[in-house]
Amino acid sequence: MARFPEAERRLFRHKICRKCKARNPWLAKKCRKCGSRALRPKRKEVKG
Ligand SMILES: [Zn+2]
Repeated sequence: MARFPEAERRLFRHKICRKCKARNPWLAKKCRKCGSRALRPKRKEVKG
């Protein structure tokens, strides 16, 4: 949450593939696993 900038930043620095749900680097243009470009920022999902 906002009280933990480090944790939030860590979570925020990822993108999740909509296709295979692999975690990708924030700057990734496409999924490193399946090559899909359907990446979404990991923001709302704090769990996992
Ligand atoms: Zn993927």
